[in-house]
Amino acid sequence: MPKGEFHLHLEGSLPYSLLREIDPVTYAELPPFWHRDYRFPSFADFDRELLAMAGLWFTSPERYHRAAKAIFDDAREQGVRYLETSIASGCLEFGGLDLFEVTAAVKSAAPEGLTVRLFMGIHHSGYSEGYAPALEEGLNCPHLDGFDIHGNEPDPLGDWAADFYRRAREAGKFTKCHAGEFMGPEFIDRAVNELGVTRIEHGVRAVESEGTMILLADRNVTLDVCPVSNIKLQVVPSFAGHPLRRLIDGGIRCTINRDDPLIFGSTLEEEYHLVQEEMGLSDGEILDLVRNGFDIALVDGEEKKKYRKELDDFILRHGL
Ligand SMILES: [Zn+2]
Repeated sequence: MPKGEFHLHLEGSLPYSLLREIDPVTYAELPPFWHRDYRFPSFADFDRELLAMAGLWFTSPERYHRAAKAIFDDAREQGVRYLETSIASGCLEFGGLDLFEVTAAVKSAAPEGLTVRLFMGIHHSGYSEGYAPALEEGLNCPHLDGFDIHGNEPDPLGDWAADFYRRAREAGKFTKCHAGEFMGPEFIDRAVNELGVTRIEHGVRAVESEGTMILLADRNVTLDVCPVSNIKLQVVPSFAGHPLRRLIDGGIRCTINRDDPLIFGSTLEEEYHLVQEEMGLSDGEILDLVRNGFDIALVDGEEKKKYRKELDDFILRHGL
């Protein structure tokens, strides 16, 4: 099925085969957290695993290019036509890597038939004295399409964010924010009202507040939801108890995504399959989720028309 993907961390999507290239002994077996029943005790445990693996590979622009090429080719094979992915400011800062070089290396890895939009993911204290100059330069970086705020959600978000996001949009960059995963609806409200975003990564905890549900529907905010990630990080207790159905019924636009397949081990097809099998969404509702993605894609009307046409052909071919 032709589709878009909107919430995918590049470092968290490193193909396992590349890790094996560096250390065939440690990474001989697939990790236990790929098992469907695995649950992370905390975000810190998840973060530790991710950083240990990503830190081994992402040490140069060339390594970013190779990983991006493998990740993009794989996404294309899974039917993805439009992909939004982010690189982590923390990885660039820690590795002493140049933002322009890395973003150019990632963007040039996009294969024919896949449109890639690249974001810089900034953790809550990422706009530090040391890294703020690089982020300011990022406002004028032609390879960067936008910014995302991510990382440990309960960490205090500094005053930098609202002003930086306003200036980012003035510079033509798109802005989004992780919220409503480990913090409740009040942080979603803040992302919408103070940061001015119309796209929330996760946002599933909006269901805890009727006011937040109304705010998201009224402002046409899209939630980029990652079902397997939500389960494995214990944001929600089970697939059956996942709030996706309630969000959709509340008139909130959602998309389906993988978040960090290096850690969660899911393909995009599996994510959709679980949404259908475990959450009971119909074929029509699945197609609506896919159409939502094409609606919000950061491309011109002609390209959207192309995506929709390919989806319509798919629907006809499969009698859906
Ligand atoms: Zn994420």
